[in-house]
Amino acid sequence: MVFKDSVAGFDVVNECPKKMLNGPCGGMKNGMCEVKGPCIWLKIYAKLKSEDRLSEFTKVRIPTIK
Ligand code: SF4
Repeated sequence: MVFKDSVAGFDVVNECPKKMLNGPCGGMKNGMCEVKGPCIWLKIYAKLKSEDRLSEFTKVRIPTIK
């Protein structure tokens, strides 16, 4: 089973240790992931905002299994 999902062009499934598809978990602090490095959701937010697509940030995403 392989999960294949991206958000705003980011491979969130592989870049987020918890594979959060619907926004950041409660472990983000000052933009940093509690596991490792910057939280991918900060990058997603910045990209959507720069492209005037912030309405997509709160979109509910269902995992795609391939
Ligand atoms: S802090 Fe961000 S990158 Fe880290 S596990 Fe939570 S949602 Fe994923």
